[in-house]
Amino acid sequence: MSQAHVHGAGPTGCLAALALAQVGWQVHLYDPLDAPALLGRQRAYALTHSSASLLDRLGLWQALKPRLVPFSSLELWDQGTGRQCHFSGDDLGQGQRRGRAASGDLDRAATVRTTGPGSARAGEAVGWISQHGPLMTLLLEQLQASEQVFLHLGPMASSAEAPRTAPGDLVVAADGSLSPSRQAAGLGWLERSYDQACLTVQVRLRGSRDNQAWELLRPEGPFAVLPLGGDAFQLVWSASARRLRQLESLDGAAFLDQLAGALPDQLQPEVLLDQPRAYPVALGLAWPVAKGSLVLVGDSAHRCHPVGGQGLNLGWRDVACLQQLAGRVTAGRLAPGRLAAAYRWRRGPDLIATLLATHLLVKLFSNRSPLLLPLRRLALDLLNGAPLLRRLSLAAMTQGPCRLWQR
Ligand SMILES: Cc1cc2nc3c(=O)[nH]c(=O)nc-3n(C[C@H](O)[C@H](O)[C@H](O)COP(=O)(O)OP(=O)(O)OC[C@H]3O[C@@H](n4cnc5c(N)ncnc54)[C@H](O)[C@@H]3O)c2cc1C
Repeated sequence: MSQAHVHGAGPTGCLAALALAQVGWQVHLYDPLDAPALLGRQRAYALTHSSASLLDRLGLWQALKPRLVPFSSLELWDQGTGRQCHFSGDDLGQGQRRGRAASGDLDRAATVRTTGPGSARAGEAVGWISQHGPLMTLLLEQLQASEQVFLHLGPMASSAEAPRTAPGDLVVAADGSLSPSRQAAGLGWLERSYDQACLTVQVRLRGSRDNQAWELLRPEGPFAVLPLGGDAFQLVWSASARRLRQLESLDGAAFLDQLAGALPDQLQPEVLLDQPRAYPVALGLAWPVAKGSLVLVGDSAHRCHPVGGQGLNLGWRDVACLQQLAGRVTAGRLAPGRLAAAYRWRRGPDLIATLLATHLLVKLFSNRSPLLLPLRRLALDLLNGAPLLRRLSLAAMTQGPCRLWQR
């Protein structure tokens, strides 16, 4: 049986371990954090259809479905020009439906009840919001139940219990953007920081449907409003690091005042549900993303701006690719020594296209440049007037830009 060592038990490392076990590999998964610390992060992820397909293939979709909040529409709003564009389930083309695993169950799961004007006619979910805690709880339960996965969690586990890596073993680095594994292997890391950071906070909000997500493109940076069920929403607010540090230091009432000023009038924040926290954001790419017996997945391989909620989904597409290649090794159709090279060339186009797309979105919309405003008006008008363009943009967002060439 082939053996893999996965370093990092974040959402990408956990999923990579399950994916490799499913295609017959024995997997050791290491993290210096113990289970309570791994579960403890306050974050919500917008999951796309590419992630839903992978979860379905791994047999996790049914169990995760009740813990997700589907959204049936996405409101894109350029606040510099005042132009808006509404994406709904109707904009999910056949490509996306074909792109999913052939599971009628996932199709049914993607169907959400919609209410009110403007709701998706077909009721198809554009995406799903998952809180970090419930997602990680499920992944850790599955890992503990697997006979092919050996968990080494906690500060001592990585060094004390680690079995030796034998020649021919696969090493998977899923140890985050600072990736000690990547650094130890001497792989390159290209990074460019933004003049923005982002702040996350959960609030109760009036003025939005509970199945609607918003991406507000503001001159100071993008601002995502993601439904968490009922009138609770996760906000991802991008602005200069200095402004976000000031916001972090405000008391609840003063923070809500600032928030009300940043949101459009129709969205009215009422109560803070957790502590606002600011994070640095950067564009980063390891090159190569695999070498010898080492393969990088998730944030150890790439980092992007949170606009469009691409980061984790991109990491899970790494996992989907790794699983496909590992399955070919198990079936004797790929020499183990060829896996890293195959991974490198298969992942390159999606990684570059997705990082470029998020970067261009940030650069094009985070300003009031009079030279760019007409271009932005034109882009939003075209999106509004051409269903095909909306469909292609949504396909790029939910399946990755490279799927456009495969349609
Ligand atoms: C504010 C914000 C909002 C975001 N929103 C979204 C969103 O809506 N949708 C989306 O798709 N993405 C989103 N992202 C991106 C997403 O959070 C990341 O892409 C994702 O968390 C990366 O997961 P990961 O498992 O690759 O890395 P991490 O979650 O960073 O996990 C790395 C793990 O490696 C472990 N580790 C570290 N050192 C070692 C070592 N030496 N040995 C073993 N293990 C080690 C760490 O303890 C950690 O558990 C957002 C990011 C930010 C900052």
